[in-house]
This record gives sequence, structure tokens and C-alpha cells, in this order.
Amino acid sequence: MTEYWNNLCAFLPSIPMPPNPPQPDFQGLGAQQVNLIAHLAGWPVRINVFTQPGIQNAMATGNTPWFGDEVVIYDPIFMEGLRQRYGLSAPFGVLAHEVGHIVRGVLVPGWMPDWSDEMRADHFAGFVLARHGLDLQPLQRCIMELMARPGYRHPDGRTRAAVVRGGYIEGGGIA
Ligand SMILES: [Zn+2]
Repeated sequence: MTEYWNNLCAFLPSIPMPPNPPQPDFQGLGAQQVNLIAHLAGWPVRINVFTQPGIQNAMATGNTPWFGDEVVIYDPIFMEGLRQRYGLSAPFGVLAHEVGHIVRGVLVPGWMPDWSDEMRADHFAGFVLARHGLDLQPLQRCIMELMARPGYRHPDGRTRAAVVRGGYIEGGGIA
């Protein structure tokens, strides 16, 4: 059960994982959005998505004991909270960030992401928002409020928000 810690990106600094395993979300809204994003980015296979209420986070990981090598796990309560507080593009952008790790090849077995990998995923998230005609600001506000300080894995929220903006502009968005 602890293997999947090895390769994950957690969007926010992690809290301890609850003991219950993630549940399949193959038909859920998160799964639909993840695969829409991945498909438009040219990813050739379906990404399996799981929910895990209580983690207050979203993550991409590989080498799981459940299903497939590359999966996305998210907390649906947390994501709905983001939508209510910031707007639709915040949770959508969080999922896009996680997909970004997979489609840009950042998430490989045994590889621990560093700041540059996280910024690549943030750049991809901004790019995806622009391509879907979604607003930039909700994701930026979300990142800046929830990521005030840098961590070992992520730069600070202001830096991340600027990287998201760069991706948004590259995707054709007006920012
Ligand atoms: Zn990440």
C-alpha cells in the first residue's frame, strides 16, 4: 500500500494518506475530465482515475498495486470545494496539472519530481485551460492561496501562478 508514494506528484503538500484504498472512478466526472485532457494532448491510452475522500489533494502516480502504471487520484470533496471557492477552472486545472505529469513524461517509475518537473506540469495546466476556453484566474488564486510557501517538491504559489500564466499564453489565452 505504500508503493505508490514513490512516484507521486501531490498537487499540494501532502497530508498522511488514510488507510482506505482509493476507489475506482472510471466513469466519474474527474475521470472524464482527465481523459478529455489527455486525449486532446495526444495521450494514446486511457488513464485510470481513482477517488480518495479525505486526502484534500490530487495526485498522479505510477506503479500502483491497483490498476495500471499511471493513474490520477483525487479527493472529490476537496475538488468540489475548489470549484465553489475559486470557480470551475481551479479543479479542472488541478487535474490538468496531474495529467501534465503523465503526458509530458515527467512521471516515470523511480523518478522523484523536482521543481522543474512541477513547473512543467503547471505550464501544461495553463495551456490546457486556454485551449478549453477557461479562465486563468481561478487556478492562479487557488495556487497562490493554497501554496503560500515553497516546499521540497514545489516552488511557492506566486512562482507557480506565473508559470501557469506562461502556459496559458502559449495556449492562446489572453492573460
Ligand atoms: Zn505535480
